Amino acid sequence: MLKNWFVVPTRLPLVRRRCHACASERSQASGKFRVNANHKLIDAWLLVLCTDCGATAKLTVLERVTVRSVRPELLNRLHDNDPGLTAELLQDPAVQHRNRIALDWDDAWRLDTGGSDHLDHEVIDVSVRFAARIPVRPVRLIAEGCGLSRAEVDRLLTEGKLVSAARLSGKLSGDFTFTLKR
Ligand SMILES: [Zn+2]
Repeated sequence: MLKNWFVVPTRLPLVRRRCHACASERSQASGKFRVNANHKLIDAWLLVLCTDCGATAKLTVLERVTVRSVRPELLNRLHDNDPGLTAELLQDPAVQHRNRIALDWDDAWRLDTGGSDHLDHEVIDVSVRFAARIPVRPVRLIAEGCGLSRAEVDRLLTEGKLVSAARLSGKLSGDFTFTLKR
């Protein structure tokens, strides 16, 4: 039996960064941007709030770039505080690198298995698709999706009854497939 599972975000991830006011390690997106146009140059920031003390911090999105080089669509979305843009920018490797942040996806995603009909089958082939690059433990995912304990999944892996071209022992954040025989 062939199944498609989906790893989907349920909310925005938290931002891992140290708060300058209270040393908390987590911030959350405020949903707002700040845009500053000065002559022909433009700066834009994504505003985040410390989860502990609420202090605001700015993540750089655009830094002194010429207005003409910015797509009008992007400018509109910045001015409109487009929620989809917040999600896109938080996951943008360039934005993460520039601001030295990482994302915390704990409790911010769910697994959608499209029903439980696969539980009755002896052999299932599952294609797991990620709607965002969310780091998850495949063992945990498979345990949850197949109604097994993690120890049972580990045992099936050791016995060669759970096979995949991907490494299932660590964390994955991109599409993979696996076959499970019971
Ligand atoms: Zn703080």
